[in-house]
Amino acid sequence: MSDATSYELFINGVWRAGGDGITLPVINPATEKVFASVASATVSDLDEALASAERSRRAWSSRPAKDRGEILVAAAGILAAKLGTAARDLSAEQGKTIAEATGEYARAVETLEWNGTHAEALSATIPMGPNRMIVPEPLGVVAALTPWNYPAVLVARKLAPALAAGCPVILKGAEETPSAAVHIVEALRQAGIPAGVVNLVFGVPVQISRHLLSSPIVKVLTFTGSTEVGRQLAKLAANNLQRCILELGGHSPVVVCEGADLAKAIPAISEYKFECAGQSCNAPSRILVARALYKEFLARMTETTRKIRVGPPDDPETEMGPMANARRIEAMQRLTENAVDRGARIETGGTRLDRPGFYWPPTILTGVPKDAKVLHEEPFGPILTVAPFDTIEEAIEEANATEYGLAAYFFAGTSDAKRALVGGLSVGAVSVNYLKGVSADAPYGGVKQSGYGYEGGEQGVRGFQNLKLVNGLGSFG
Ligand code: NAD
Repeated sequence: MSDATSYELFINGVWRAGGDGITLPVINPATEKVFASVASATVSDLDEALASAERSRRAWSSRPAKDRGEILVAAAGILAAKLGTAARDLSAEQGKTIAEATGEYARAVETLEWNGTHAEALSATIPMGPNRMIVPEPLGVVAALTPWNYPAVLVARKLAPALAAGCPVILKGAEETPSAAVHIVEALRQAGIPAGVVNLVFGVPVQISRHLLSSPIVKVLTFTGSTEVGRQLAKLAANNLQRCILELGGHSPVVVCEGADLAKAIPAISEYKFECAGQSCNAPSRILVARALYKEFLARMTETTRKIRVGPPDDPETEMGPMANARRIEAMQRLTENAVDRGARIETGGTRLDRPGFYWPPTILTGVPKDAKVLHEEPFGPILTVAPFDTIEEAIEEANATEYGLAAYFFAGTSDAKRALVGGLSVGAVSVNYLKGVSADAPYGGVKQSGYGYEGGEQGVRGFQNLKLVNGLGSFG
């Protein structure tokens, strides 16, 4: 395996450098200093990964699903045992606090376990009556491309269901945060995953995705990242009609109805919004508040937000760390300036902190006009907008007024309002009176420009299967 500062590729069961020895720098976002490196794959490395995945396919797909599941469960145990070290590595490269990184790894462990435990049941024949059945079959080699914001849990959410279904995987880890993919793949290796079934590459994202998707060996693409990149990848996948699972951006509203308990709603919103410095696809970004509560909500939300302790991610006192990279700071600057130029008011935050590191403070904007970019572009950072509404219909219209449709949240509301909100919000997931994200056992996916397909639960595994309908056969007996 790689040493602490130089992460390697894993191809055909072996950790090794890229073919031409080129590496990419890994930057600590709290210091802006390079502190590690990651190998960059060449075209022949990618070809080797494709060939080894394809060679391993038949044996892996025909191995009893129970055995496949046992390897995933064993890997979960191995990962759990090194959770402390892995969380520290993740925190140093991503900027999230140690507590956040530990929580993320716990969810990665749970994801490996859940898919391992359910592998056998989800690979079993599904009877459709006396003479018909569905035989789930693995689709074949998967290209899995993962981002830097939740590099541990998102790797687990791609690898575990694909492997449980019987598909080999070529995983592209996030170059900016490589340690998570390395720790998880190493746990699978130690758990006995056969050579070729999991391959890990890093490199130049556009070159890797283009090369992998141009190969007819790849049958499924699973990607988490921006809508723009998702569209490019879907176009590439169209050439070989590879199945796509696309988990893209979000711009999630929270509707605070009359009667909401602000003592519960405000800490819940604050915690979920500012986790990982707001760089979560389902983080709330637009708060819509019933006019009767607006003034009080804004005052209390602003006070809570101002008190958030921003600092180095390895300081136990820190509640929010730096942003992951310089691109996010530039985006915060651009979105804030654009809103303020159009008449928005900064209630708190709004300028980069004057210290080394990619630090942007928790920020609240009000009076944001409808054409401001921050109401349409995914902020993907610690910026919240707050606005009043008069009727539930108006709140739903505002909530739906972006191209995204990933998650939405609401607090309180009459029975009629609740029914209208659950039915009227154009999103993949709604949480009521609390904010909840992904879990291992439930499907999660977006509508509109937030993507298609599901991760999590039974549907997460089905995404990697051909559900072969067999008519006229009584049974295999
Ligand atoms: P980006 O769109 O350049 O990259 C997003 C991710 O996709 C990165 O991990 C990157 O390595 C990868 N990527 C980029 N081009 C690729 C390509 N051609 N082929 C394969 N992978 C490719 O943006 P960024 O600056 O890294 O991240 C910011 C934006 O990305 C945010 O605004 C947000 O919308 C989105 N994002 C979303 C999620 C999510 O959880 N849905 C995660 C990370 C980033």
